Amino acid sequence: MNEANKSDNIVHAPKMVKITKVIQENPTVSSIEMKAPNIARIAEPGQFVMVWCPGVDEAPMGLSIIDKEKGIIAITVEQVGEATRAVCSKKAGDFLGIRGPYGKGFALKGKKIVAVGGGYGMAPLRALIQKFLKLNIFDTIDVIIAAKTKEQLVFLKEMEKLAEKNSRIFIQPCTDDGTRGMKGLAHQALLKIVSEKKVDEVYAVGPELMLKKVFEITEKHGIELQVSLTRYVKCAIGLCGQCVLDPTGTILCTEGPVFNSNKLREIKKCFGKYTRDASGQKITF
Ligand SMILES: Cc1cc2nc3c(=O)[nH]c(=O)nc-3n(C[C@H](O)[C@H](O)[C@H](O)COP(=O)(O)OP(=O)(O)OC[C@H]3O[C@@H](n4cnc5c(N)ncnc54)[C@H](O)[C@@H]3O)c2cc1C
Repeated sequence: MNEANKSDNIVHAPKMVKITKVIQENPTVSSIEMKAPNIARIAEPGQFVMVWCPGVDEAPMGLSIIDKEKGIIAITVEQVGEATRAVCSKKAGDFLGIRGPYGKGFALKGKKIVAVGGGYGMAPLRALIQKFLKLNIFDTIDVIIAAKTKEQLVFLKEMEKLAEKNSRIFIQPCTDDGTRGMKGLAHQALLKIVSEKKVDEVYAVGPELMLKKVFEITEKHGIELQVSLTRYVKCAIGLCGQCVLDPTGTILCTEGPVFNSNKLREIKKCFGKYTRDASGQKITF
């Protein structure tokens, strides 16, 4: 399907879709699978949907599963406030309002790849890794899964199973407290990998300070990077200007949320430094 046909098919009014499965990934993160064939058909890894919990709020969420054959999508949600708590309290058979998919996802580039996921950042990377596997267009994938402590590692078991079946996939868990895998931060695990082997492309999703550290490493080693950023998203269609990035005025919801190294150099005024809240006030990281 070409880009013009895809944009004709985007669902702009929230459509109530049925939840088919809820999996509690850890004490605060749940994956919610939904039957949404119209979205699954056109969505790409790294794009996001707006998830509406009637009577509560609407929130942007990346897609952790895009199953075009079964017409299933999944979101993986960390409970941080009212909307995310309400979404995580849903059960199979309940409904959520979904619109999208929105934004620009990952460009599938590189043969020797590293995926770096901090916390729920593993969500869009899971869909990306599945796509690389399906198309079989990679030599190796190193997956760094980072969290504060072992209970918070997202998709570790699933990724380890993938690595058992595929000798070109390597998993590196990484915890701040050393309870599982390497003791330290995600960028330190990345530094070890790029010092030991050739890497073409790094994909990273997680807290922005982690992304900034990852960017410093890829810049120093001349490696291309794609990251998924978050800003306060309201309309998701590029109209309200809430999610613009300084100093270029880049609109995250339509031009991102995935940005490459070139773009990160252009937005260095705000990248890793500050975001904005719902009223536009600057919040430093
Ligand atoms: C493109 C994109 C993809 C995202 N993907 C995921 C994901 O896969 N899984 C996940 O758990 N979270 C994801 N988020 C973050 C998620 O949207 C927020 O955690 C959620 O909106 C918080 O809502 P709340 O009512 O629970 O919390 P609140 O108490 O309202 O806020 C908690 C925090 O979330 C931020 N936030 C609140 N509303 C929004 C909003 N509309 N847009 C962005 N940030 C907001 C606040 O600034 C605050 O820092 C994504 C955000 C963006 C922009």
